[in-house]
Amino acid sequence: VTDADSDRYRQDFPCLQQEAHGKPLVYLDSAATSQKPRAVIDALSRFYETSYSNVHRGAHMLSERATEAYEGARSRVAQFIGAADSREIVFVRGATEAINLVAASYGRVNFGPGDEILLTEMEHHSNIVPWQLVAEQTGAVIKVVPISDDGELMMDRFDELLGERTKMVAVGHVSNALGTINPLKAIIEKAHAQGARVLVDGCQAAPRVPVDVTELGCDFYVFSGHKLYGPSGIGVLYGRQELLEAMPPYQGGGEMIQRVTFDHTTYAKVPQKFEAGTPNIAGPVGLHAAIDYVDGIGLEAIFEHERDLLAYATDAIRELPGVHLIGTAPEKAGILSFVLEGIHPHDIGTILDNQGIAVRTGHHCAQPVMDRFQVPATTRASFGLYNTRADVDAFIQGLQEVQDILG
Ligand code: PMP
Repeated sequence: VTDADSDRYRQDFPCLQQEAHGKPLVYLDSAATSQKPRAVIDALSRFYETSYSNVHRGAHMLSERATEAYEGARSRVAQFIGAADSREIVFVRGATEAINLVAASYGRVNFGPGDEILLTEMEHHSNIVPWQLVAEQTGAVIKVVPISDDGELMMDRFDELLGERTKMVAVGHVSNALGTINPLKAIIEKAHAQGARVLVDGCQAAPRVPVDVTELGCDFYVFSGHKLYGPSGIGVLYGRQELLEAMPPYQGGGEMIQRVTFDHTTYAKVPQKFEAGTPNIAGPVGLHAAIDYVDGIGLEAIFEHERDLLAYATDAIRELPGVHLIGTAPEKAGILSFVLEGIHPHDIGTILDNQGIAVRTGHHCAQPVMDRFQVPATTRASFGLYNTRADVDAFIQGLQEVQDILG
């Protein structure tokens, strides 16, 4: 993907064809959520206009169409992330729900007092709090792999913390607060050698790094559709089939049962066992279209393009006085987190917004990372397939203006 390509791809995104405060909109907040290409918006409209119905139950034409679209999306997701079987794909609301599902269902039956859940200091709150909840219920203990000044996992500490009592390692693929890409293969191999399971939070990786769960060998992999140019309210839990089969249901209700009596209820096979109630029916259809769109460009190409933008932006921002980058690992994806000396991130965000530039400021749902670097918040610019070097130029110019006004 070249800059010229990205300029063309941007035309596919209606929401980016507008001004913000009278300036061309520069969207640098794709790590929070990405914009949607016309192909996704059209697929959703088309589905509602021609094929909408509830899934799995009806004998009628529309129900059959809807079920076909819903299950077709499941197969597409499986293929996209290299899962061996579409039954290993559970549709959920998002990464948050996926992690809660695994923590509650897998954790409650497999964790006991003194068992250890190994997390990292760079996890998003959604990969911390569900484990705290299940730890409270089971007596399991949470251990945390610290991060270095560069924002890398301290693998020697990981080796020390990983042990016979470790039942689960839950780790992000790409940090949303630092941009760091974690050495998953080594983590997974070492964890498995100790008999631990591994859940990967792939929220920030799915839209910007090629993912193959079979090659990785992880036990669970989760991500949200809305960061992958798809609709919000739909996400994916990948779980190895034998694990999903052995896990108890997370929620009870319609669709997840085989037979219900007041004496005894039996459950449906996976993945339906984990999809209680009427699901987000259209969400998977939009996600399917998003995956087709992204695959049409190629994740490898998107990854390289974002890396180019990151390098370009990193060089430029380092020229500004009083800049501290938060996260300087050599292996990084398209996320740039920083602080400007003496200026609150919130003020940076507001002044940039006045210039039409959208960035995120705050703790990015990673308060332990803020504590680690002793900052209350950072400003974060994050890239998508539609960003160009011109966007970075506007952003850097915007920061100069911030410093002129407040510096
Ligand atoms: N993990 C990471 C690394 C994230 O960036 C996010 C979203 N900010 C989440 C988990 C949670 O995703 P969601 O809110 O879509 O469930």
